[in-house]
Amino acid sequence: KKKALEVRDLNVFFKISTGTVRAVENVDFDLYEGESLGLVGESGCGKTTTALSTMGMLPDNGYIDNGSIKYDNKELANNSEAEWQLYRWNDIAMVFQGAMNALNPVKKISFQIAEAISLHYPKAKDDEIKKRIIELFKLVGLDSSRIDDYPHEFSGGMRQRVMIAMALACNPRILIADEPTTALDVMIQAQIIDLINELRKKISMSMIIITHDLSIISETCDRIAVMYAGNIVELGTVRDVIKNSKHPYTQKLIGAFPNIYGEKKRIESIPGTPPNLLDPPSGCRFHLRCSEAKQICKTEVPKSVDFGNGHYVACHLYGGVTNE
Ligand code: SF4
Repeated sequence: KKKALEVRDLNVFFKISTGTVRAVENVDFDLYEGESLGLVGESGCGKTTTALSTMGMLPDNGYIDNGSIKYDNKELANNSEAEWQLYRWNDIAMVFQGAMNALNPVKKISFQIAEAISLHYPKAKDDEIKKRIIELFKLVGLDSSRIDDYPHEFSGGMRQRVMIAMALACNPRILIADEPTTALDVMIQAQIIDLINELRKKISMSMIIITHDLSIISETCDRIAVMYAGNIVELGTVRDVIKNSKHPYTQKLIGAFPNIYGEKKRIESIPGTPPNLLDPPSGCRFHLRCSEAKQICKTEVPKSVDFGNGHYVACHLYGGVTNE
């Protein structure tokens, strides 16, 4: 399978006044052409930071400390801002969390999408841009007679469709969606999930879906990477990770969503809180909350163990030790 994106040994840190936050550490994953990969975990586990680093959009105090991000075999991790600009939105695009509420209230939707298009195609003529906006509206299931409406004339679900249309404006090969259904009511959530699945069929692009909600992953993704405290702890097909999860954290996370196809109700919460990444725990970062922790878990970082079929688990219950 051809890879759209290859991330290896990625460390992303943030400098703050009290020290260095180790937000993402030793992260490895591939994104294959045409697949949809879910990044799941509690808030603060590094999902969004991982995504932003692949867009070259880390905040000013954030930086890639180590590692490689390859797109089409081209290394991006050392890109200058000018190099990022050539790639960002053209090759990889992102729908940011809550962005649908950040549309400019006094500008028509068509104007806002046109701005995004002309940024990348400065020579595009007005009628070409309009044609593209109509195409994009149709693609995301919006009524194309309404391109000149203002944001307040659209419902939350419609505004989320606009954000997806904007991200697709330059035909990217990779689309990242960060919590695409958060803040929408259940009916509208289902419609956005349907839209994501339709887009997966209609356009051959790769997707990364970021969410804390396993039910969304199970409906929209081929594979899942489960993140905890800046590390990927389990990675594999949706079936392997959900039906045959191996990592104690994944198992707890699934326990928190008893029926992933039904109503979302947290019945079991994971005791304790995620660690402070200014000073992450030694060994396995989950050891303070893990009911199965052993002595070795406190001192040694668990190495990824391959269960076959691309199912990787980083946990001492399954052997494998590294001193990294
Ligand atoms: Fe629990 Fe140890 Fe596995 Fe970490 S390595 S999840 S502490 S058993």
